[in-house]
This record gives sequence, structure tokens and C-alpha cells, in this order.
Amino acid sequence: MQNLLDFDAQQLTVWFAEQGEKPFRAKQVLRWIYKAGESDFDAMSDLAISLREKLKQIACVQAPSVIREELASDGTRKWLLDVGTGNAVETVYIPEEDRGTLCVSTQAGCALDCAFCSTGKQGFNRNLSTAEIIGQVWWANHELGKDSAADRANGSAAPCQGRYGNWPVTNVVLMGMGEPLLNFENTVSALRLMLDDNAYGLSRRRVTVSTSGVVPAMDRLREECPVALAISLHAPNDALRNELVPINQKYPLHELMAACRRYLEKAPRDFVTFEYVMLAGVNDSVQHARELIQLVRDVPCKFNLIPFNPFPQSPYQRSDMPTVLRFRDALMQAGIVTTIRKVRGDDIAAACGQLAGQVQDRTKRTHRMMEASL
Ligand code: SAH
Ligand code: SF4
Repeated sequence: MQNLLDFDAQQLTVWFAEQGEKPFRAKQVLRWIYKAGESDFDAMSDLAISLREKLKQIACVQAPSVIREELASDGTRKWLLDVGTGNAVETVYIPEEDRGTLCVSTQAGCALDCAFCSTGKQGFNRNLSTAEIIGQVWWANHELGKDSAADRANGSAAPCQGRYGNWPVTNVVLMGMGEPLLNFENTVSALRLMLDDNAYGLSRRRVTVSTSGVVPAMDRLREECPVALAISLHAPNDALRNELVPINQKYPLHELMAACRRYLEKAPRDFVTFEYVMLAGVNDSVQHARELIQLVRDVPCKFNLIPFNPFPQSPYQRSDMPTVLRFRDALMQAGIVTTIRKVRGDDIAAACGQLAGQVQDRTKRTHRMMEASL
């Protein structure tokens, strides 16, 4: 059975051609899957009955299955998704007044082993397929669209959501489990579906890839699918960043800053976002802020300060609010727009770096994979 969520528009067209079908069929099916949220070929009423029968024999539309769903008091939702062989990944939906952001995972585990990240502590298990990545968006829209349809029936919902209308997910951030740029092909196919007018049709500015700084892949992304970019910076100098974000040993800060500048030539926004997790007594002094100002002086950027989310056995503590505010003020005084990330979904462990899933493989394969994929 071919899962059609595994194909972006171009790949779906090639597959339809291989089945002896016309290219416009691919477009029709794409619209059914993503615009209507349909997974049942029988419901795809503008396809010939013979084609529907054929598709039922050889294809399916299958998002990963949900093991558990949790709803936080602030409306944040988390789904734990089964990705086979005892592994699970997480997807988080964060509703805000004017948008709905879905935080999507791209790998089961992560090879990069950042010191403060619970996903990294689990080691790498495997890359998610395109279907498993875009399937997170498909699933969330399907579930939340259903809710709003029910609400609409009660007369209590925003009028814009549902089948054929706008979907609840208006923004996507690849900030769940894994390093998106080390699962490049599948991530880019999924990004293309997010952007494609026959699929979700999101603007490039509403789709953000977050990376710990895989420099060659940043250049590739800029050529192949330039969406908004967030960099997990976390330290103002190589000595500290080598410790916190070990991939810095391979791509040090001067290379990372140069890659950001190159990326901006094609980016949909005229700045990159630097994410900076605030670790008490480690990277959060005003002196660190001053060093950062020097580091980023040639890179148009914004900063997003992230309160550290502790997890069992993590060696770090969250910086206190006065320290975070001092740090923010130092950056702001240098003219750098700086926000402090709100902690959402705290009561269901849905915040950054807490997306633990249940990844089984915690061996040294991690480092071998890292070498192999870079
Ligand atoms: N691998 C990518 C994307 C996933 S991590 C990356 O590193 O950018 C998404 C964000 O969560 C990153 O900025 C990461 O540094 C941050 N993060 C990881 N662990 C965290 C924790 N325990 N507390 C707060 N933020 C964390
Ligand atoms: Fe991987 Fe990102 Fe976690 Fe680092 S912060 S270990 S790159 S998921």
C-alpha cells in the first residue's frame, strides 16, 4: 500500500503517471487530502469510480496513529503519535487569538545531544517519513476541525474553521523532536506540502524551520525551500556553545553567522530568529548579552529568550525572571528586538525540549549517524 501522504505535489504527479493516470488527477487528489482533509477515496466524488476503486487497492492516506492526547488548561494540546517499533513522537498545538501554531517533530530522538534537551538525551532512533511529518499537520487539522464543527453546531465557535474553510493550523514550527535539517529530504517534501496552494497553502513566513546550525543544510534549504528560519543559538562564544550545542564543534559560530547572512538573501523574512534558552548561571549574565550583541552585529535578527524547561536528571536550572529581564533589556538597548517565550502547556509537559515521546534506542548509534548524515 502506498501512503499518499508520503508524496509532495511533484512526487504525487510522478506516481500517478506511473499508474497510467493524468497529472491533473494528482492535483485533484492532493486537494481532497489537504484542502478537504479526506482520507476515504470513496468520498473523492470528482474522481472516476474506476480510479477510486484502483486507489483503494493500491494506496491509502494514513497519518500516524495517536497513542495519547492531552489538553492543558491554557488550551494547548499534545498528541503522542506512534511511529512504529516502540517509538513515539509528539506534536503540540498552541492556540492564540489570531493564529494556531503547530509544533511538529521531524525525527524520533535526535543525534545532536544538546546538553539541555531531553530529546537529545534519548539519542537518535530514526528519521520520520514525509507522511509522518505532514501527517502531524493533517491529523491536527482533522481533529481540531472536527471540534470546531461540533462547536459550530452549538453556536459557540469561530466561524472560519472546518472542511473546505480555513484550517485551525495557520502556522507551523519545526521545533518538536529532532533536527529537521538532518532529515532533509522528508522535511522539505513536508514543507512543500505546507506551502503548496493545492495542499495547505501557508505562506513561507508562517512556516519556520528551527535548526541547531547544520550549516551546509541551511544553504541547501535556502536554495530548495526558503521558509522562515530560527537558529538555536544558546551561547555567545564557541567555548560555551561547544559544550551546550555540540554540533558547534563542527560548524563554529563564525560559520553559522555567515550562513545566516547567506540565508537572508532568500528568506521570506528579513531577519532570523535566534532562540536562546536561559540557563541559570551558565549563559544568562549581562556580560553574555554584551558578547551576543557583538556576535550578531552583522546579522539582522530577533531574539527569543526561552525559559529552560527542566526534565528528570537535567543538570540545569531556569534563570529567574529579574535575570531574564536584565538580559532582555541589554539586547533591547542595543536595538535588538527581544521577546521572552511564554511557557505554554506547562501542566502537560508540552513545552520546548520536554517532548520526550518514548524513544527506545539510546545507544552510541547516535554519533555514528551524525557522522554519516553530515
Ligand atoms: N533541533 C532543532 C529543533 C527542535 S528543538 C533545534 O535545536 O533548533 C526546538 C527548540 O527547543 C530549540 O531552540 C531547542 O534549543 C529548545 N530546547 C530544547 N530543550 C529545551 C529545554 N529543556 N528547555 C527549553 N528549550 C529547549
Ligand atoms: Fe536535537 Fe534540537 Fe534537542 Fe539539540 S535542541 S538535541 S538539535 S532536538
